[in-house]
Amino acid sequence: MFRMGSIAGRTVLEVDGTFHDVATVAGDESLADPMAAVARFVELSALSNKARGAGAPVTGPLGVCVPRPSKVFGIGLNYKSHASESKMELPPAPLTFTKFPSCLVGPTDDVVLSGDTVDWEVELVVVIGKGGRRIARESAWSHVAGITLGQDISDRVVQTTGKPPQFSLGKSFDTYGPIGPVMVSVDSFADPDDIGLWCDVSGERMQEARSRDLIFDVPYLVSYLSSICTLEAGDLIFTGTPDGVGMARGRLLKDGDVIDSGAEVIGALRNRCVKN
Ligand code: ZN
Repeated sequence: MFRMGSIAGRTVLEVDGTFHDVATVAGDESLADPMAAVARFVELSALSNKARGAGAPVTGPLGVCVPRPSKVFGIGLNYKSHASESKMELPPAPLTFTKFPSCLVGPTDDVVLSGDTVDWEVELVVVIGKGGRRIARESAWSHVAGITLGQDISDRVVQTTGKPPQFSLGKSFDTYGPIGPVMVSVDSFADPDDIGLWCDVSGERMQEARSRDLIFDVPYLVSYLSSICTLEAGDLIFTGTPDGVGMARGRLLKDGDVIDSGAEVIGALRNRCVKN
């Protein structure tokens, strides 16, 4: 088991609440880059144990745990409850868009609002550790380095402009992809297909669900996406949001709102909304 993040751009492992510099613990500077560490995720459990005995503690705000993925997939309408509140039919295949990687920010960074129609979407985010093409559902979890939490922040006007609308830019404004606080290994969960997640906005509970209610589960998504694209270590899959988004409530994000997102085992994000 391991919990991997980044501080000042360097890979850290969280052990009993303390963060340790991985490259120092390992005596291997090539592990300092979080992208290199994700690709070597099979070594991180042993390094966590090593840090427990001979640590290299560091402090500072956590940055983006997976800072430079080659691809960031987003999946639309992947909880029945959210498809129903959006008055959309259940999709025949995963409805996939991209969040461009430049939108990623850390667990406590500000979200810079692009306008008056910006919405929250709490989601579990899968991190690919071992790439591949045509990955079978049965072996999909062995390709996953870990799971983190994310917000698929969305400008609803930009997202839905035109026919057919193209989601990717409305979900890719700078700061529209907070993730973290850390990436947690798959074996940290009693059941990685059943993880609770929730989202509060300025103290009001907006979303609460479990990932067992996903329409297309993680093995399905990994298998489906890899039937089309070669997956690479560090690629992210935002797995979809449950019901309770602002669009369905008639209440969108405004300057000063605080988005508190949480998930079992993984931890919490706190992102403040600020005007552009
Ligand atoms: Zn989403």
